[in-house]
Amino acid sequence: DQEEAFRRSVAHARTVSHAPRRRAERAGAGPTFTNAPDSDPAVAQVRAWAREVVAASPGTPRSTVHDDARAADAVVARGRAAGHRWAGRPAAERAAVLRRAADEIEARRGRLVTAMAAEGGKTVGEADPEVSEAVDFARYYADRALDEVDGARFVPDVLTLVTPPWNFPVAIPAGSVLAALAAGSAVVLKPADAVPRCAEIVVEAIHAAGVAEDVLQVVRVDEGRLGRALVAHDGVDTVLLTGALETARLFAGWRAGHPGGPRVLAETSGKNAMVVTPAADLDLAVADLVRSAFGHAGQKCSAASLAILVGSVGTSRRFRRQLVDAVSSLVVGWPTDLGVSMGPVIEPPSGKLERALTRLDPGESWLVEPRPLDDTGRLWSPGVKDGVAPGSWYHRTEAFGPVLGLMRARTLDEALARQNATGYGLTGGLHSLDAEEIDHWLERVEVGNAYVNRHMTGAIVRRQSFGGWKGSAVGPGAKAGGPNYVAQLGRWLPAGLPV
Ligand code: GLU
Repeated sequence: DQEEAFRRSVAHARTVSHAPRRRAERAGAGPTFTNAPDSDPAVAQVRAWAREVVAASPGTPRSTVHDDARAADAVVARGRAAGHRWAGRPAAERAAVLRRAADEIEARRGRLVTAMAAEGGKTVGEADPEVSEAVDFARYYADRALDEVDGARFVPDVLTLVTPPWNFPVAIPAGSVLAALAAGSAVVLKPADAVPRCAEIVVEAIHAAGVAEDVLQVVRVDEGRLGRALVAHDGVDTVLLTGALETARLFAGWRAGHPGGPRVLAETSGKNAMVVTPAADLDLAVADLVRSAFGHAGQKCSAASLAILVGSVGTSRRFRRQLVDAVSSLVVGWPTDLGVSMGPVIEPPSGKLERALTRLDPGESWLVEPRPLDDTGRLWSPGVKDGVAPGSWYHRTEAFGPVLGLMRARTLDEALARQNATGYGLTGGLHSLDAEEIDHWLERVEVGNAYVNRHMTGAIVRRQSFGGWKGSAVGPGAKAGGPNYVAQLGRWLPAGLPV
């Protein structure tokens, strides 16, 4: 069963070794987990194991790859018919289904962790809490179905399109889909290209909980017209997107003429900084900074990619030494090795990430220089860039990978001005034990999620609802895992009207 299977994966992970990888061997990569290099025996092992586990599961829904616009019409028509049916179920029934979904997801923990490692390169340490987050979403949105939308004045969207990112291949599709289902909407899920199996296991769990296959459909899109046809479709009421700001803008453009308004609710990019003042516990600050910057190899929109060092912290040799030591002791490798603390990036760096990993702008120098560790191009040692200048390319650009930049500020206000000047506003951190500094910062920082004396990633459902300001959001969306996220997925009839 699941537990036993997971124990076996752990046992495999302990016994396999890393052999040199050769390009020629990768040529025969199988179709399922194309993001992991085939030539690595450790990865091949987990991939084979993951295939076995996935295949052993009865009723695993298979994705359909459509490539024409007519297919979008069919998917939408089916979804809308199902949506009307689903909306007719009382909120208490929908909540009960969501609670069962929580248990069904929990029951698939081992397979989900394996799929995240195999497809997305997530370490077990990052993947396991992500399953918990998905379970939390299911239980939280079940409560919200009862508290927020259990009334005659709420008319749910009939059909919601969910387009999640590859970096949280379980929690984000699960959370978005479950929120829409809680509201009473049918859903079409288009998994991120790199991680379809993760999404399929989530969908299998939700179907097993009692959601019909037409109420939650999965479609896969080959970079084609169906993507645009679906996103722009008049029959899709709302698009829930987590992804790059550019994608959100593209979607909003495609939906500009939509009869119900564009309704693209997107959580997008971030350029997130942690401010460290001389009143900080520096040991804690270093630990939280390293975790925030290099967890999942920096591939979180919540990740810290800047540290703004105030006053004497900027010149503290002790802080620098500790930071260099902590970063250099990260163990980089494939997630099949349980000793690994930082896994691969999703594909060989290009564009912004390549620039951030390989180039320095005037005034910048490497405190820890990142290097490719093998010929796959995906395994990089972490980098720390010193001397980032206010207004520079790195200050304003989300690189989405294992790089941290250090910037100095004379005062907390100067640090705040730099933290707020990125164009984004997703997460922000402060390390300071001074109560006045904390209040001052909390009142002025322009981010959706402000963390004090804590790492900046891993928002907890219900306790730290997650979402951004400014360039980190598109559409009037409420924060995920918080109040009104479910209640925004429909229309409210004015009080007093007969319904
Ligand atoms: N919710 C995640 C966190 O708090 C980030 C999600 C994302 O990267 O899209 O770390």
